[in-house]
This record gives sequence, C-alpha cells and structure tokens, in this order.
Amino acid sequence: MSDRALGLLLFLPVPIVLWLFTRAPLGPLASLGLGIALVATHRLYARPFALARAPRRCLWCGRAVDAGPELSVVEPLGATRWRACGGDHASRLRRVFGFADAHSAFLKIGILGSLALFLVLALGAALGRLWPAAGADAVALFRFGVAVAVLPLGWLSATRGPLAAQPAPVPFPLHIQALIGTWAVLWLFRLVGLAWLVLAMLHVAARSSASVP
Ligand SMILES: [Zn+2]
Repeated sequence: MSDRALGLLLFLPVPIVLWLFTRAPLGPLASLGLGIALVATHRLYARPFALARAPRRCLWCGRAVDAGPELSVVEPLGATRWRACGGDHASRLRRVFGFADAHSAFLKIGILGSLALFLVLALGAALGRLWPAAGADAVALFRFGVAVAVLPLGWLSATRGPLAAQPAPVPFPLHIQALIGTWAVLWLFRLVGLAWLVLAMLHVAARSSASVP
C-alpha cells in the first residue's frame, strides 16, 4: 500500500469524528464517547506515521520526494522537520505557517474553544440536563465557530500569509495535514467551512422562526 493510500486511511478518523459529533449516528452518548476515544488515540498512530515519512513526502502535496527544501517547525508537541517537493510548495507552506502563527489565538479559540464548548453542551444535552434543543444548538455553535476559524485559513493562508521564518512556530500539530497533504486539508477547510457556516445559519433561522408565535 502506498504512503498516500495509508495516509488517507489514517486520516479517516477525522471525518468520522466530525460525523459522530455532528450527526450522533449511535445516539448522543455513544457517539460522543466513541468520538472522544478516536480523538484521544489518533495522535498515537497518526503522528509516528507522519513523522517517519516527513523527510520523504512533500508536506504540501503529499507526493514522494527524495530531495527538496527542508522546513523546520516548532509545533506545540516539539520541534520537527518536514520537506517540500520544490520551492513553490515550500513557500506555500511557509505562508500557511506564517498566517497560522499571526492568527494563532483566533484559530485556537475558534477550533479548540468551539470543540470544548460543544463537548460540554452536547454532554449536558445527552444527559438531559439542559434545554430541550441543546444538542442541536451545540452542533450549530460548533459548526459556526469552526467554520469562522478555518475559512480564512483555507482561502487566504497559502497565498496571502506572511512568509514564516525558520524555524516556524505553528499553533497546531502538523501530523494531521501531513497525512493527506496540506493542500487537501485547506480545500476541506474551504468547502466544509462554507457548508458548516450555511448549516449553522439555517439552524439559527429555523430556531428563531420556531420561537415566533
Ligand atoms: Zn509538493
């Protein structure tokens, strides 16, 4: 099996977690529990896989390389080195790093803050301790917060971000984007971000029209 196929396979828990959290296909408590277990364990196998291949895959496009510019990065989990297939993909990556670092507080609050708030509200809803529509409200809030955070990163970072110096500080671990390539993750941010923004707004519209007598 190729590194690209294996990387895609190891990326699958990410959409599965989002599906479990936003659709609760196994019921609220089991979906939340399985989602949290997948989040907690993903790093254990995905990070070693990505780091082992960091010198021989382009972090931007994911293709196999034996030479190319190196990128040294300081992630929250420590200093790492990655590679790009050429100067163009290296500079796109450096712009993504620069953009993420310049907006690190916004990204952390948007993604981690929304996730934390969602888990608290969704757990409260699953246990029946909150208002009747709390589960759906929690999902809409999660979608809105994540969408607002990832849309600028997806649409602007690779072209408009400032070129990061080396070693580049980044606010999030890079192994997830390394699994399928940074370009693919940015496209997911663009498309899922737009879809989630629309879904969150439709939820607000439905809620406000339902509360009008
Ligand atoms: Zn490349």
